Amino acid sequence: MKLSDIRIALRETRLSPVKTLGQNFLHDQNLARWIVDQAQITPDDYVVEIGPGLGALTRFILEKGAHVLAIEKDARLADFLRAHFGHERLEILKIDALKFDSRSLFARRTAKLLGNLPYNISSALLLKFLEQPNPISLWLLMLQKEVAARLSASPSTRDYGALTLRVQLHHRVKYLRTVPATVFFPRPEVDSAVVQILPRDPLELPQRDDQSLLRLIRAGFSQRRKQLRKLVREHINDWDTVTRRLKIAANARAEELSLLQWIALANSIAPLPPPDTYLTKNERFPIVDKNDRILRYANRSDVHGNNLRHRAVHILIFNQAGDVYLQQRSRWKDRHPLRWDSSAAGHVADGESYDDTARRELKEELCVSVPLEKVLKVPASQSTDQEFVWLYRGLTFGDLVPNKSEIEQGAFLPPTIIDRWTSARPQDFAPGFLECWKAYRRKTRSDRQAALELPHILTKASGARSPG
Ligand code: SAM
Repeated sequence: MKLSDIRIALRETRLSPVKTLGQNFLHDQNLARWIVDQAQITPDDYVVEIGPGLGALTRFILEKGAHVLAIEKDARLADFLRAHFGHERLEILKIDALKFDSRSLFARRTAKLLGNLPYNISSALLLKFLEQPNPISLWLLMLQKEVAARLSASPSTRDYGALTLRVQLHHRVKYLRTVPATVFFPRPEVDSAVVQILPRDPLELPQRDDQSLLRLIRAGFSQRRKQLRKLVREHINDWDTVTRRLKIAANARAEELSLLQWIALANSIAPLPPPDTYLTKNERFPIVDKNDRILRYANRSDVHGNNLRHRAVHILIFNQAGDVYLQQRSRWKDRHPLRWDSSAAGHVADGESYDDTARRELKEELCVSVPLEKVLKVPASQSTDQEFVWLYRGLTFGDLVPNKSEIEQGAFLPPTIIDRWTSARPQDFAPGFLECWKAYRRKTRSDRQAALELPHILTKASGARSPG
């Protein structure tokens, strides 16, 4: 949009730009086209644009053939867009982007996020849309120059801080170019910059507990000028031994440590349990016939190597909102590493009943014991890796503590989002979970029904029960 067009549009809509909404409109069309080009948008993409304003970027995104979801808080601008850009591939949401449920994007095969963000809430928006787990494959953002510099900073620079590490933990950030204030109307008081953000390959960085790591980082950066030794005293008491082992200078300040060094430091305080390969190799499972009658026992490698029929449980844990906890399988798993799965799952071992296994797996994987209800049985097939699966469900009122040697990360998600995610990206899931979820949804049909049945879990179940 040219400057003259912006003036006409503002006059037409009787709109004077609102400072608190960060309304500085881009009038350099070449720059707008260039920004959109950096997102490598194809007709297959589902693009979320935050704060489309008068449509400076929207127009070029639509030209790429993508579907656009434009989220605009100012109703007058949303109406202007609807009137001037009416397009079957453009959906306009008149809401505060901070209230948008980004988990709904799991329903899309590819989702990208673009925006010339309102500066006063850009960090809040950024952190919201970067939350884990995350379905977005690329972010292309215009931000205040200082924020862009902080996101893309390297160690031992003025801009490197807790925000840098929080974002870079799961993403790679590239500072693409500085943008002068002169390309906006009205002119903001600060310069801007364009950044590209891409998700990291989950295996790029060592495994760690993100929450303890971020706690440590916050403590470390709480007073920039001070030495780390003093700031993290509460977390690390044998500082000299730890820093010597990790080859970190004993008098280092927070800004001198790379992301890898921060991870090493956090892992030295709370070492992650090693994946227990010895135990899993020597586990013995009952082998069963086509009617699930026990024939004999065999060890794990035999069972999977020879495709033998065996037994397993899957457990779905709900919270009070009716959301289901899904876990992402650990990177160390021999089968389906990093795929998403039921809240907890595992094989029935030698001497165990299905109910015993369900209780044990829940305790081992999520550190909870809640009453479980037996819901349905899935027959052994290729899709379940020849497992007969009993599916259980339970309700939790408290936090789950995922066992890091089994689980990479986890999240509570509404059943309708799981429905759409499993159908848009089945490759994200362990095949056994897909079978269980399909069967579960056939049985419960709707969320309403699933939610209505939740109190029933509480009142009926006291220990594992058979279906009624
Ligand atoms: N994309 C347009 C452009 O480049 O010319 C406008 C960008 S302007 C910097 C920021 C836009 O975000 C404005 O249209 C403003 O109304 C909108 N906005 C501000 N706060 C918002 C929020 N919380 N949710 C959605 N949009 C918001």
